[in-house]
Amino acid sequence: MWFFFPGPESFALSSLGYLWLYKEIDMADSFDIERVYSDTKTTRLMRDRINLIGMSFTFDMDFIAIFHFLERNKYNFKAKDRKESDPLIFAGGPVISSNPKPYAEIFDFMIIGDGEGVNVTVASIIKEGLENNKNKSDILKELSKIEGIYVPGITTKVNKLTKKLTQCIYTPILSTNAFFPNTFILEVERGCSNRCGFCLASYLNLPIRFVDYEEIINTIELGLKHTNKIALLGAQITAHPKFTDICKYIEAKIDNGEEIEMSVSSLRVDSFTPEIVNTLVKAGQKNLTLAIEAGSERLRRVINKNLTEEQIYKAIEIAKSCGLHGIKFYGMIGLPTETQEDLEEIVNLSKKIKAKYKGFEISFGFSTFVPKPNTPFQWFGRENEKSLETKANYLRKELHKLGIQISVSSAKWDYYQAVLSRGDEKLTDYIIEVFNQGGKLGAFRKASKTLNINTDYYAIENYQYEKVLPWDTIDIRPGKEFLIEESKRLINR
Ligand code: SF4
Repeated sequence: MWFFFPGPESFALSSLGYLWLYKEIDMADSFDIERVYSDTKTTRLMRDRINLIGMSFTFDMDFIAIFHFLERNKYNFKAKDRKESDPLIFAGGPVISSNPKPYAEIFDFMIIGDGEGVNVTVASIIKEGLENNKNKSDILKELSKIEGIYVPGITTKVNKLTKKLTQCIYTPILSTNAFFPNTFILEVERGCSNRCGFCLASYLNLPIRFVDYEEIINTIELGLKHTNKIALLGAQITAHPKFTDICKYIEAKIDNGEEIEMSVSSLRVDSFTPEIVNTLVKAGQKNLTLAIEAGSERLRRVINKNLTEEQIYKAIEIAKSCGLHGIKFYGMIGLPTETQEDLEEIVNLSKKIKAKYKGFEISFGFSTFVPKPNTPFQWFGRENEKSLETKANYLRKELHKLGIQISVSSAKWDYYQAVLSRGDEKLTDYIIEVFNQGGKLGAFRKASKTLNINTDYYAIENYQYEKVLPWDTIDIRPGKEFLIEESKRLINR
């Protein structure tokens, strides 16, 4: 089996989910599995020996690397064009779990939701099937009976898999070649209970689940046997009921002379406590990123991020008192109902921070709103590119005047991300054409002309709540009715 990561080795070696799923299959006795990356030059396993190919699909644009891999290895892109003797090819990950439709013709089957455990089950079924000379379609029929497995053409409705976190998953490989070199990454919790209206990370992983404290500590100790760099992962890490205890545990070790470097994936402003920030600073974390998402309290209410200006000031005070010299704020532009006043609030907030906390550095990173399937904002289209560019330029100009650094993601790329996010089966030929045209921005434009695809329909249009959506095939709790209610509640705030 090849397990493909659509990016360079360095990223793969810092990708917790990919490495853990690889480990599970590798540890099961009867499989010979090899990791393959976009920059892999030669493989240990010969192409003709491969029976199964799994792929991680985390970002919308991963399809380009996936097609490169298929082309390099001489596999047809569409499952129906591949031979009976070709391996079965499947994928999993957030893109697939939230909306597999644009890729339904590409993969033989897909894993919807948490892949742990079920990856070994599917590999075993396929192995057993091949040993008994079953053909591909019989094997796929069997796979379609497993919860969480979506087999295009057979499955009509699939429940997303939601694992109980009985075990702490961690990166089983440490490498200097990793993007985070020699860093032992472990998952403390999965999901985020805040349910911001646009946030796939939250809605795809409800309910939030925590790993037991003891299990986390044992896993940290396992990591510390091999490295002094630890990274704790989770979308709402400070929500762990024992997060402060975990920090204290690490801090005590540092105070005892152990040279531990610890970092966390993200913090929420309202969970910033002196204990937590102190531990992080002691453990070598130099920069903190805080997602405030929007400048005005009104817009933050709309997106369900009920964060007050006072809480932001308090967070800065804590950061300062712990010896940090600056904070990077993360925000989004083009959110539903956003007006010029909301943008002005970002500038006003920055002015106030600058005046109140002289010498304290702040910077901003913005992305543009992309409607994601299975979120309350899935019905809302994006603003057009021109209007987003005007907004980005306004912020650049005003924040530069204050000496504040700002970066803004490309509205053009974000547009095509939205096209894919809300895509349907019609986009399969489109993405193949994009790849054939070179996979750059111009290729997306050219492909829509060649195939007469109205990309605005996917990215810009507002959808009616009654509309049947391509991803309705996926049953994700709390379900569509809840999303409609939540969407109406938020947008009218
Ligand atoms: S706080 Fe962050 S992770 Fe949680 S729902 Fe909001 S954007 Fe998503």
